[in-house]
Amino acid sequence: MEFEPVIGLEIHAQLTTKSKIFCRCSTKFGADPNSQVCPVCLGMPGVLPVINKTAVEYAIKMGLATNCTIASHSVFARKNYFYPDLPKGYQISQFEEPLCLNGYLEIGLEGKSHKIGITRIHLEEDAGKSVHAEDWVEQNETLVDVNRCGVPLIEIVSEPDIRSPQQAYAYLNGLRQILQYLEICDGNMEEGSLRCDANISVRPKGATEFGVKTEMKNMNSFRGVEKALEFEIARQIDIIKSGGRVQQETLLWDERNSVAVPMRSKEEAHDYRYFPEPDLLPLAVDDQWKKSVKESMPELPVARRKRFVENYQIPDYDAGILTENRAVADYFEDVAGRVNDAKLTSNWVMGEVLRALNERKQDIREFPIRSNRLAELLKILLKKEISASVAKTVFKEMLVSEDSPEKIVEARGLTQISDSSEIADIIDQVIANNPKEVEKYRSGKTKLFGFLMGQVMKATRGTANPQLVNKILKEKLDE
Ligand code: ADP
Ligand code: ZN
Ligand code: MG
Repeated sequence: MEFEPVIGLEIHAQLTTKSKIFCRCSTKFGADPNSQVCPVCLGMPGVLPVINKTAVEYAIKMGLATNCTIASHSVFARKNYFYPDLPKGYQISQFEEPLCLNGYLEIGLEGKSHKIGITRIHLEEDAGKSVHAEDWVEQNETLVDVNRCGVPLIEIVSEPDIRSPQQAYAYLNGLRQILQYLEICDGNMEEGSLRCDANISVRPKGATEFGVKTEMKNMNSFRGVEKALEFEIARQIDIIKSGGRVQQETLLWDERNSVAVPMRSKEEAHDYRYFPEPDLLPLAVDDQWKKSVKESMPELPVARRKRFVENYQIPDYDAGILTENRAVADYFEDVAGRVNDAKLTSNWVMGEVLRALNERKQDIREFPIRSNRLAELLKILLKKEISASVAKTVFKEMLVSEDSPEKIVEARGLTQISDSSEIADIIDQVIANNPKEVEKYRSGKTKLFGFLMGQVMKATRGTANPQLVNKILKEKLDE
């Protein structure tokens, strides 16, 4: 029997507001433990939370970007549970009436497109952090840092529409891309600003009912999500094939050993005793507000990719890579706007620029070759003042020098030699220095042309005009 996995993801994204969701404390990362707290986010008796308008707007943006309906009336609720990193004893979240509903995200995988339903997006506050794995913490000791209490989160809950670990990866990546385009979350899974819990079940292919699901937590990277899902799908299929039944439980992914370990069973599941938060009014979002939030949104990745193909006449493949990251797309547009050759620009951004960023582990916003400088380089390349290989040499130099590409070309004597007699002289020398190869060529081994051409280019450090070299060398050899 063949099995099919069914996956639904619950994703938490930390919003990049300056202050917390219900008080004025800073959300700045990396501050001294317990230095960014106040009676409100500590849940002292008698304090009153006040909603952060920017956090609401960020959540609305995400809802609009994922085709959700924005509820004109939504309600905050208390989710009660006991844990050391939650001094209030409850988390303010949204339960029965969330802010965003019934959306979807379209993902592309191996040339096919899939619509993944989004059940809801709601706003909530984060809890604090238990600290035990740091080297400054004594063994067997756990410390609590409450700086994170009250940092705004959105939770994005998908429908059980995902059918493979690869689709889950693409969905997660698509959401992250939108969060980053909207500049409402930095999308860093390793640092915990984007967190993903996965619900997984399997069923015989063709079945209409879902199987019993387990929930996987604690995956700290995109690869981790893919690996954890693969592990859990295989585990469930094994259980069913050997005549057993999958138990509903929560599992923790152990990245180091690539296994899932049970965390709690159905019986131990929390009863959160949700009830409407009495200290906050229902959240009212009218059409006017929704409209103004919508107007403040940037062009989103899918639309931008389409526009790149149409406006710049570049392949969809290029457009996909160039729009993966908003700042890279901005950079490309900036260069393409200055250089009269979008495909050349695309090749250079996808090739040299992305490669250099990768090697340097750098964000394009910190890249030393700003868009205007790359444009200058591409312009002299287009004017055929330098060859493509010289342009690459100049590019490397530009990474460490602030000089203009013209100046680098000049200072290093890299201007293209387009003078026929100068090239002819160099060719004469190469012919004189390689008598054996020349003789073989003349007796029919025409493959050696490439070698001799290479010698000429080498002798000129790549600066000879290749078309001229080709033509003159051929004439001289065939004399
Ligand atoms: P719970 O009651 O456990 O919170 P929900 O119905 O709220 O379950 O769903 C939580 C998540 O689990 C959603 O992302 C949903 O798509 C997913 N899900 C629900 N049922 C299944 C299933 N049988 N297999 C896989 N995922 C599922
Ligand atoms: Zn506070
Ligand atoms: Mg649920």
